[in-house]
Amino acid sequence: MTSTVQTASAPFVEKAPLELYVAPEKPSLIGLSRGELSDALGDAGVPPAQRKMRVQQLWHWIYYRGSTSFDDMTTMGKDLRAALAERFTLARPEVVAEQVSVDGTRKWLLRLEGDSDTKLPHDVECVYIPDTERGTLCVSSQVGCTLTCTFCHTGTQRLVRNLTAGEIAGQVLAARDRLGDWPGGTRPTDGVIPSGERCVTNIVMMGMGEPLYNFDAVRDAILIMSDGEGIGISKRRITLSTSGVVPNIERAGAEIGCMLAISLHAVRDELRNELVPLNRKYPIAQLMEACRNYPGASNARRITFEYVMLKDVNDSIADAKALVQLLKGIPAKINLIPFNPWPGTKYECSDWDQIEKFSQVVFDAGYASPVRTPRGRDIFAACGQLKSATEKMSARERMALRAMAMTDE
Ligand code: SAH
Ligand code: SF4
Repeated sequence: MTSTVQTASAPFVEKAPLELYVAPEKPSLIGLSRGELSDALGDAGVPPAQRKMRVQQLWHWIYYRGSTSFDDMTTMGKDLRAALAERFTLARPEVVAEQVSVDGTRKWLLRLEGDSDTKLPHDVECVYIPDTERGTLCVSSQVGCTLTCTFCHTGTQRLVRNLTAGEIAGQVLAARDRLGDWPGGTRPTDGVIPSGERCVTNIVMMGMGEPLYNFDAVRDAILIMSDGEGIGISKRRITLSTSGVVPNIERAGAEIGCMLAISLHAVRDELRNELVPLNRKYPIAQLMEACRNYPGASNARRITFEYVMLKDVNDSIADAKALVQLLKGIPAKINLIPFNPWPGTKYECSDWDQIEKFSQVVFDAGYASPVRTPRGRDIFAACGQLKSATEKMSARERMALRAMAMTDE
């Protein structure tokens, strides 16, 4: 028998937020549910009998037309518009920097309103990845992250705070504002814009943060994004990526019903404990069980398993075979992510040759998407390590971002 060397595993730490969101004196209506909008209309003096109709109108102006001013809302009287403007705003995160790459990928630095204690603004990143027929928006859920995955730059940062539903849904509004992606809007003339009616057709919750540690806000925001009377992006085109918060995977199935991506990255608990320390709390067997039970998963609606390629860590052919074995019986597809290095990291990206060999094993087992990888040689990728929007995007980062846009729909 061979003895295995025990490496000191990364400690499992759930970071507590440094700040709690405090709403500004004049809050934004973005992110409110229909019920909350009805209460807001009550505050503005609208009698109960009229509120339902007014909520419909507000919803239409905010989420279908993309209004940024109450003055636009011409189906409502001047007095009501003034009463609303006195108490509320339609503020969404503000674009403070934009980078457009040669392939049309757009990266925005979005500024959130500061918190009342510090008054310091916070920035999150949001990335738009256009293709000929679709445009995918990568949205953040936290400033920093609750967790400490060792290969992820965000994992080394502190968790500043959870984003609100308004700030999460607001990223979609800010992107659509920037792209002229509202009825009658003017599209940018540079970069790549998909040929269809809409610029943003798909959403991935793969920006900063662990969405299932900000469950309620993420759920409320996705319900807004998918609402057919507003933004109207189908839940089949919205993918939530998680490092494996098992109890909330079940909740996501019951309360959200969007597509699921799992950041797996290792097929053995010993290694996954190191790479994704949350694994010590919810080990692989529990995670697989949660995936098996995820409602709606089928060959047409497969769960994506993300696997970051780390040289000499998790990229052996034996690992590839074990991966295929592990996913047996689960409607799955596999996204191989070339590791995107960051200053100070101890990991390296696997050699291209090795990625190809690994990819071939995965493809031969039938796990690569038959639609997008006919020969199985394309390397899928996602990226949770977004750098500042003012820094130049590297070729690898662009590739990772592009591949992140790969979903079936
Ligand atoms: N917190 C969630 C979603 C954001 S991260 C999650 O972990 O799933 C989105 C994806 O990018 C995850 O699969 C994550 O593991 C991966 N990722 C993080 N850092 C990376 C890096 N440096 N290179 C490549 N992929 C990375
Ligand atoms: Fe957080 Fe995801 Fe990065 Fe892990 S990979 S630290 S869960 S953002």
